[in-house]
Amino acid sequence: MTERRIIDDASFPNEWPKKEDHEGHEVRWKEGVSKEYGVHGVAVAVDFDICIADGICISVCPVNVFDKMDIAAEQEKIDKQIPNDSGKTLLDRWKADPTRERDCIFCRACEIQCPVQAIKITEGVGPFA
Ligand code: SF4
Repeated sequence: MTERRIIDDASFPNEWPKKEDHEGHEVRWKEGVSKEYGVHGVAVAVDFDICIADGICISVCPVNVFDKMDIAAEQEKIDKQIPNDSGKTLLDRWKADPTRERDCIFCRACEIQCPVQAIKITEGVGPFA
């Protein structure tokens, strides 16, 4: 499994088409890159195909942007120790969903501390455009 990081993807968000709306934020999906879930949020972007549910973003966010979104289908990856796009196996079956993306104050704590670089913070896009 090759390691992938959303923070290194210069094409996000501008070249990632919108797939759908979810809980007050967009979900974006790029053909040939996204595999199962795509990226939730645009200014606070969490690539669900990379997130391993370690929870540091939830712990460090000063304004409570994230909620845990349970994805039952991820249990199989945990049981079988199947890595996701981070190259690592999952710690839990939920993803950090930026439900309150609009509340972000761009401190970048989540982006800096995410151990698999599943988060990319971009000012002036999405709800801040
Ligand atoms: S950049 Fe800061 S305020 Fe914004 S979601 Fe991340 S931790 Fe929260």
